[in-house]
Amino acid sequence: AALKQNVVELKDGREMRALGQGTWRMGEEKSKHDAEVEALRTGLDCGLHVIDTAEMYGEGESEKLVGEAIQDRREDVFLVSKVYPYNAYGEKLVKACDESLERLGTDYLDLYLLHWRGDAPLEETIQGMEQLKSDGKIRAWGVSNFDVEDMKELLALPNGHNCAVNQVLYHLGSRGIEYDLLPYLKEQGIPVMAYAPLAEGSDVKKDVFENETVNRLAETYSASVAQILLAWTIRSGHVIAIPKAGQAEHVEENAAALLLDLSEEDVATLDEAFPPPTTKQPLDVI
Ligand code: NDP
Repeated sequence: AALKQNVVELKDGREMRALGQGTWRMGEEKSKHDAEVEALRTGLDCGLHVIDTAEMYGEGESEKLVGEAIQDRREDVFLVSKVYPYNAYGEKLVKACDESLERLGTDYLDLYLLHWRGDAPLEETIQGMEQLKSDGKIRAWGVSNFDVEDMKELLALPNGHNCAVNQVLYHLGSRGIEYDLLPYLKEQGIPVMAYAPLAEGSDVKKDVFENETVNRLAETYSASVAQILLAWTIRSGHVIAIPKAGQAEHVEENAAALLLDLSEEDVATLDEAFPPPTTKQPLDVI
């Protein structure tokens, strides 16, 4: 089962390794620059080929850092960036994408996401994304922070079904999507990219990291708590997790979670500590 969990297939047949690398808050501090470049390159060496960034992160600084880290090995990377909702239509979309490509030092993205739903009409965003695809600037497009109703609206529009992924918040301490969004996306063949898989920025981060069951399992598997959380997040084979790690040691530790296969019994034990939702929950966001 460990191998089965290693990759998640996209509608177009391409595969994403179930663990990738987030980059929010990277590229913002000079003193961390070298360590962050090293961390990203270490991640690629470990097979974490999905790198997730956005024009928003550090207002372009994250993309520049990623560009630097991948300049001599673009082909090793499944590169993902995101557009601000207010840039997600017409000429603005083309310009935003061109500027992201420029900062990243490449001429195509593997995946381009609408960062969250704003005022831009979805029809126009889809049209623009399809144009970028025809122009060879992106291989596929998707969305982020879309709940079930947004997804239904999107998928009903012309070419809406070309949406490749939905990137949403998901970790052991925030399981709302399991009630409806996750099964719906699975049915539609749209993988989930789980952001904040280590519960960063959440009120429950401490509860998760200090939880007795979680720590007991970590001991049982000779793993770290972070590894347990990541293995849990990708357990279905339909979700990829994109932890951010600015330190190479963290990246190596995270990559090793690809080999950690939680038993059904242990997953059930975690359900007791952090129960799955039994009613509709509002989509959790950061
Ligand atoms: P994460 O849950 O990934 O947590 C990141 C934090 O965890 C960092 O402080 C990092 O430290 C630490 N960490 C990483 N690995 C380990 C480890 N093995 N042991 C202990 N600590 C560890 O939070 P993010 O908010 O960064 O989410 C991940 C990514 O998801 C983002 O970077 C971004 O790419 C994306 N995202 C997307 C959003 C959206 O709206 N679409 C919203 C939020 C995030 P250190 O850096 O020191 O290694």
